[in-house]
Amino acid sequence: MSADVIVVGAGLSGLYAAREVLRAGLEPLVLEADDRVGGRILTQQVAPGIDVEIGAQWIGDTHHRMRALAAELGIGTFAQFEEGEATYELLGSPVLRENEFHAAHRHELAALDQALERLDELSGQVPLEAPWDAERAAEWDAVTAARWLDSQQLPPVAERLLEICTVGILAVPMAEVSLLDMLYNLQTCGVGAQLFAESEGGAQTTRFDGGTSRIPQALAESLGDRVLLGQPVMLIERDETSVTVHCRGGLVARGQHVIVALSPTLASRIMYDPPLPGVRDQLTQRMPQASAMKAFLTYDEPFWRADGLSGQLISDIGPSRMSNDTSPADASYGQVLMFLEGEQARTFGRWPEAERREALIAEAVRHFGPRAASPTHYVDGEWSDRPWTRGCYNANMGPGVWTNFGRALTPPVGPIHWASTETATRWSGYMEGALDAAIRAAGEVATQLRR
Ligand SMILES: Cc1cc2nc3c(=O)[nH]c(=O)nc-3n(C[C@H](O)[C@H](O)[C@H](O)COP(=O)(O)OP(=O)(O)OC[C@H]3O[C@@H](n4cnc5c(N)ncnc54)[C@H](O)[C@@H]3O)c2cc1C
Repeated sequence: MSADVIVVGAGLSGLYAAREVLRAGLEPLVLEADDRVGGRILTQQVAPGIDVEIGAQWIGDTHHRMRALAAELGIGTFAQFEEGEATYELLGSPVLRENEFHAAHRHELAALDQALERLDELSGQVPLEAPWDAERAAEWDAVTAARWLDSQQLPPVAERLLEICTVGILAVPMAEVSLLDMLYNLQTCGVGAQLFAESEGGAQTTRFDGGTSRIPQALAESLGDRVLLGQPVMLIERDETSVTVHCRGGLVARGQHVIVALSPTLASRIMYDPPLPGVRDQLTQRMPQASAMKAFLTYDEPFWRADGLSGQLISDIGPSRMSNDTSPADASYGQVLMFLEGEQARTFGRWPEAERREALIAEAVRHFGPRAASPTHYVDGEWSDRPWTRGCYNANMGPGVWTNFGRALTPPVGPIHWASTETATRWSGYMEGALDAAIRAAGEVATQLRR
């Protein structure tokens, strides 16, 4: 088989890159390992009329590319339910409603706001195209985010909240990322500490009618037989002007360029001939996928709303440290999403499902009352077991990685180009980042082919 541009991976980034390539007047061919498109986007039907988003679920107000794409594909959106009070269970205290919690911890919360302002100020000094060029890059890349948090000497409640919110974004313990990487993560989203909020400016304001999977499915449909499923790419050979891509089943695809739209971890599991430069390989050896899973409790109705609750919990007892109301727009049933992130995913993700379910229901009862004891459905989704993902939400960098190896993240190696959300400079880690990276990679190819 042959095409102008071979795209590896039919996640959002690969599909969008293929579409951009086609729009530039070139022929793409997408090779996808799995038997479905969408990668980290996966809407699953639990029962007729009841869905869960095992993967990506929300976009934010500044996810302009995603908004435009959904509109173009005719996929409607609706606002995340945001009314009512959250519930808090921290540092041995019984469950408190948001207003009680705020009244009890006014001073600690003011200290938290100040810490968020400091984070905003520091992240504003990180150049997105070259984080290693930040004036204090060496200093920030030499310490972990956990060490920075310790150094702030925040009151315990403020420290715990900041840690829970950060792990909620990075999905690994703060000791596993450098301060520079945490600052980069804030800066790439362009909303600073607003990222910790779901309201205006955050990353979780809007959902898609009928589920997020409709987006990759519609993109794949528009590409037709240019997308081949069940084709794991094992080897990419290259010379100055062409690539030959070998799949596990024996399919061989030839092209002038290849866009590898996989997370760095999975991109590094392909063999390259000749081998990639050492610095690129050293980088991908150091960009592990994080640890997150989502667990959904579905009920006949969102009963917590009648009690003035938002369905959002914050807990340091767990198993879940945060939750969200993921009921459908018409509230025809109720649904709570319990996040398991970082150590919570690693610990509780390995429990037998029945025990995990029981522990999460017990937690929901503590926060939302006895009606939470009887969900109609329980579903959870583990991502590190999935051979073509191996962890989520995205990759992180520990100390020393940005400054020593970060320069190798996006530049092409001859005719090999890198997409995937991890290579974005705007909203890296999110669906918006997957589009950002796709546009860059497809642009590189089109420019080189025009020459
Ligand atoms: C649980 C979860 C919740 C999330 N929540 C949100 C959210 O609410 N909002 C948001 O914006 N983002 C969210 N994200 C992140 C978002 O899903 C990703 O940023 C985005 O989907 C990444 O797209 P991608 O194309 O870069 O990578 P992927 O989706 O990982 O696509 C890579 C593709 O390559 C395929 N592949 C892998 N190896 C090979 C190979 N050797 N050969 C061929 N194909 C291969 C994979 O099967 C996959 O289809 C979430 C992710 C997860 C997992």
